[in-house]
This record gives sequence, C-alpha cells and structure tokens, in this order.
Amino acid sequence: MIMNQFISIFLAIIVSLPVTGWAEQPDGWFEALKNRATDQELHQLLYEMPKGGDLHQHLSGALFSEWWLDLALAARDDGYEYFTRVQLNNCHPYGHNAFGSSPANLMFHNLMRVNYEALSSCEKSQYRALSTLTEEQKQGWLDSLRLDKPYEGRNEFFETHWQRLGDLLANPWIRAEGIYLNMQAFADEGLLYIEPQIATDGYRTAEGKAIPTDQVVTIFQQRLQARDALATGITVRFQRAVLRFLPDAEQQMVDTYQFVANNWPWVGVNLVGREDNDKGYPLRFLSTLRQLRQQHHGVSLSIHAGEVDEPNAHVRDTLLLGADRIGHGLNLIQDPDTMLLMRHGPYLVEINLISNLLLEYVGRYDEHPFPEYLRTGIPVALSTDDRGMWDSTMTDEFFVAVKEFNLSWPEIKQLSRNSISYSFLEEPEKTALLNLFEKRITEFENRLKRQTRIKLISMNSAPKRGFICRKYDICSE
Ligand SMILES: [Zn+2]
Repeated sequence: MIMNQFISIFLAIIVSLPVTGWAEQPDGWFEALKNRATDQELHQLLYEMPKGGDLHQHLSGALFSEWWLDLALAARDDGYEYFTRVQLNNCHPYGHNAFGSSPANLMFHNLMRVNYEALSSCEKSQYRALSTLTEEQKQGWLDSLRLDKPYEGRNEFFETHWQRLGDLLANPWIRAEGIYLNMQAFADEGLLYIEPQIATDGYRTAEGKAIPTDQVVTIFQQRLQARDALATGITVRFQRAVLRFLPDAEQQMVDTYQFVANNWPWVGVNLVGREDNDKGYPLRFLSTLRQLRQQHHGVSLSIHAGEVDEPNAHVRDTLLLGADRIGHGLNLIQDPDTMLLMRHGPYLVEINLISNLLLEYVGRYDEHPFPEYLRTGIPVALSTDDRGMWDSTMTDEFFVAVKEFNLSWPEIKQLSRNSISYSFLEEPEKTALLNLFEKRITEFENRLKRQTRIKLISMNSAPKRGFICRKYDICSE
C-alpha cells in the first residue's frame, strides 16, 4: 500500500496533540500520541505505518481459516474435491491409532475424493463434502483451524491443526494461491518483504499421484510472477523447513539443503517441530551441516530455538549449527553466556509475541523476554509465525509490542529496519528495500509531525481479527 494515496482520503478520527511537554522532546510527538490515543486509534496508526518484513512465517499456518475454505472449494476447478469429518460414528470401537498423522476421531479432518473413496462405509458416513456443509458445520470447520478457545493451546496446535488440514496440505495450487493472498494482505499492512517457509514435497494430483518437485517449484514461481502478485509490490524469498524430530531428519536436512542451494528464490533452511521432543535436539544436525557446508554455498540458516519452557542450551547450540537467526529464542534469557554473545551481535532473534502467548510459552506478557533483548542490544524483529491460526496480523504484533512494552518511535523503526537488514535477501535488493523503507517511514513520520492533529485514514480500515478483539477492547463500535 502506498501511504500517499490514502493521505488525501481521510478522515475519520482526530487525536489532538498537546501544545507543550512531550511534543518538545525528540520523537515527543509519538509519546504524546501514545498517551492520548485510544487503543483503537493506536491500532489504526500502526496499521497505516510502513513496515519492513516478516522473517518468520509458515505458509500453511499463515493462511486464515476462511482462505482455506475458499481455496478448498475453488480447487474444484483443478479437479480436487474435499470431504471433512463432521460426526463420529464409532467406526473403530475396539481401538485405533489415535497418535498418527490421521487420528480416527479428529473432527474436521479433511480428505480429497480419492482418499475418501478408499474409506470403509462406516468411515465414509462420518464425512461430508466440504461444499455441502451447514452453516453450523461451516463455523465449526473454520474454528477448528483457529486457537480461539481459552482451553486450547500448544497441544491443540501441534497435534490437531496440521493433522486436520490433511489433504489440503497436498494441493500445490492452494498453497500457491495462499502465497498470493499473503502478499496482498501483508502489502495492505505496509510490509515490503516476506520470507515464508514453504514445502516442495508431499504434493499430490487430484488422482492421488505424487507431483514431482520440479513441477511444484514451477507452480510457485509462476504464481510469484503473475501480474496481480507483482502488483502487490511485496518482495518474496522462501525458506524450506525440516521437521526436526523425524527418524530420518538428517537425510531430510541433506535433501532440503541441496534443494535450497539449487532453487532460487528459496534462500534458507529452518528446523521446525516441538522442541520439547528431545529427538530433535539441535546438535543432532551438527555433523550433517558441516558436511553440507563442504559442498554448497548460498544457503542461510534460520532455526527455531529456545521455544520451550525449560532452560537449555538450544540457542547456543543452534548458533553453533551456523544459524544467523533464531526463531523465538524465549529461553535465551536463561542462558547468560549466550545472551552476552548476542548483544550488539550479528544474530537476530525473530520475536513472535502472539504465538508465544497462545502456545503458552508465556502466561502473560510481563514474562516475555522481548523488551530485555530489545533494550540490551540483542537484534530483534517482530514476526507472525502462524498468524492464520492465531487469527491475527502483523499490525497486531506491533500493537501488542507498543501496548505491553511502551515502545518508543525509534524502537519501532529499528524493528522494521532489522526485519530487512537481517533478511536472507541478496545485498542489492536488501539495500533497495532499506532505502524504500526509510523513504516511506520518513514520509509517514513527517505527515504525523506536521499536523497539530493526527489524521488517520479511517478507523475501520485496519482488519480487526479474533486475537486482538478478544484480548483488547478495540473492536466495539
Ligand atoms: Zn515458527
């Protein structure tokens, strides 16, 4: 979104600035605004604010429930038809695998037709075509992919959301369209760059046949080059992730690393999956990565580390693996030597405030180490992780950060600068985006500073989604 286009479209909301006091200090205009604006006004301002990049997002977790539904229904054009489990008929009364990738009692589990046809008649009777859901079933389906209940948390997310998506994850056209929808949504929020983690294997045709990786890559590359995608103005690079605790995770690392070395715009490799499953401990991958670095160049590492409750050396060990960025880094706060190593250092921690609260790695925001990292010189940036499943936005991440930790204007700008500086973009593109960000943020700042009254575009243009509405009182009329 280009701010200038909208400046003239105002105006729904006016916040008066005080004549003296804050306004006389550098960036006092922002302190004054923060103190006088309602939460709703602050949220709107942060929506309109130009931003940098989102360095930590999983494409399939970044799609909103309603996008999944629309894309699944539209996939009929590509020959795919989906069925979802809407009732349980006790088809396995004397035991079944409740722990595998397709638990027998998981409601709203999704199958494509070829796999539905292979079910027993009892199993079939539990499913219904996605296109024929009642309103109540549709709402249940949408909610089944959101962490929207107080009793839901880490287990619901890790053990049901992905399993539930089921065959929807195997459709590369859905995923490609999801890339575009994300580009559009993040552009609307004023971002310049995203670096989603996106898989290139495990895809199937509507007949159930495996789709070769080369073809998947082409599908994604073509979607990025389509006119509407280019028109968003968003620059995109991809990461590919390895599920860290699998028995063959080393081999997956080899395959993934070689893939990224040879397939632009994939630029980085990540390790994902519950860190409280010790089978995926970081140093498991040390010798594999050392071997890979003997042969390949140009592969960056950003790795989830420290997304656990207990203290351990995962962040330190992950830096030893060669990672330049750490996903989450929550328990870094309990590792003083590594904190000292990272102060004013070259390694960035990708902070995911909403994810950490909903997955209960912090019970409240005053337990979160983000302000300690930010204000002791450990490079940080805000990111959205699986924002489709949190039902939130990048604006919401900034809102939480400003509300809970009283961010200054220079701190806000630094977060966005970091999100470009520490990206895995090639240097010329990085410089260009940093310059573009500086231009946009300076224009935005000057616009706000020049005015004796702050004019926002419209109180209703910022999307107000589930998380922010439940936690803060900004959604009432
Ligand atoms: Zn993540």
